[in-house]
Amino acid sequence: MSVALQSALLPTYPEPRVAFVGGNGVELTDAGGRTYLDFAAGIAVVGLGHGHPAPLAAAHAQLDRLWHASNLFATDPSRVLASMLSDRFGGAQSFFCNSGAEANEAALKYARKATGKTGVIALEQSFHGRTTGSLSVTGQSAKRAAFEPLLGDVRFVPPNDVDALRAAMSDDIGLVLLEPVLGEGGVIPLGVEFVAAARELEALLAFDEVQTGVGRTGTFFAFEQVGVKPDLLTLAKGLANGLPIGCLLVADHATGAFVPGDHGSTFGGNPVSCAAAIAVLETVDDDLLANVRERGEQLRAGLESLPHVVDVRGRGLLAGAELDEPAGPFVDAALDAGLVCLTSGPNVLRLAPPLVVSVEHVEHALSILREVM
Ligand code: PLP
Repeated sequence: MSVALQSALLPTYPEPRVAFVGGNGVELTDAGGRTYLDFAAGIAVVGLGHGHPAPLAAAHAQLDRLWHASNLFATDPSRVLASMLSDRFGGAQSFFCNSGAEANEAALKYARKATGKTGVIALEQSFHGRTTGSLSVTGQSAKRAAFEPLLGDVRFVPPNDVDALRAAMSDDIGLVLLEPVLGEGGVIPLGVEFVAAARELEALLAFDEVQTGVGRTGTFFAFEQVGVKPDLLTLAKGLANGLPIGCLLVADHATGAFVPGDHGSTFGGNPVSCAAAIAVLETVDDDLLANVRERGEQLRAGLESLPHVVDVRGRGLLAGAELDEPAGPFVDAALDAGLVCLTSGPNVLRLAPPLVVSVEHVEHALSILREVM
């Protein structure tokens, strides 16, 4: 991208080092025709890989039929998608929006309306988005500082600290909001005991599965691995393989709080995004989930043996390697060597490839990392 074009964007992101013009499966192509192995997947989004034929055909067909009608009218894709998500969850109603932050906004509003309470317990190091509400419950003060005062009444507790969680509880808390694996805050999985303690509190329990959902951790929802079902659950990122979509799921036993007029979104439930998401759900089957678990184990085992690595964490294909120094320079060096990967907090190298990666892709990524580290 030319400097002139780049400077027409507000500088909310660091200057990009590469411009991508194409993608195919687990590969990206830059403007000069060079290919890269993609172990970032658009920040844990493109789960089926770039250009996967199922969501591509579904989106194309829906583009030809109808792009947009608004939520004043019924369209098939959003209704079908809601019913498929309900089946996967085990009984839930959906509200569709366009991003993870919006899904979490919907959860915050829903919890207030349902409980009449304003207090929220969230986790230190968590990330829930950049809108004012979702930022208020994000446990990273550096991201919040310039925008204070945000929503009051949010109590942050360290991940996996059961005593701190119980101590933070009081009568004015209506919502406990957790990421089953903290995706932006260092790839920290929550333990079974901590999640069970959260379930016992007298408040709605919401899981932000924006990053962990849709198969990323080796089960369709990450909560399936901790044996605790939430009242509310948010999805986005991988749901439509890269088309914008977000979703708040409300478990059947907790529905009834929103009535017409309480919430909405012009683009929410967009037929093209929902058609792609239906195809994604049809494709994320037991075989693919088994691949996520197996390739995740292969990846984590390989990361253990790399220099600078002091801890390896994660579930499925959301893997984090904590290093003994900042991870950013290694991510830059890997990009130069043809591997796209991510950080998660200052010292953690994060790998979140498409769920369809093969044994050879994982070996190749590890060999590039070994070279640059
Ligand atoms: N929640 C989690 C767990 C996330 O990882 C993210 C994005 O990284 C968000 C919410 C925000 O999603 P979005 O960027 O789509 O608003």
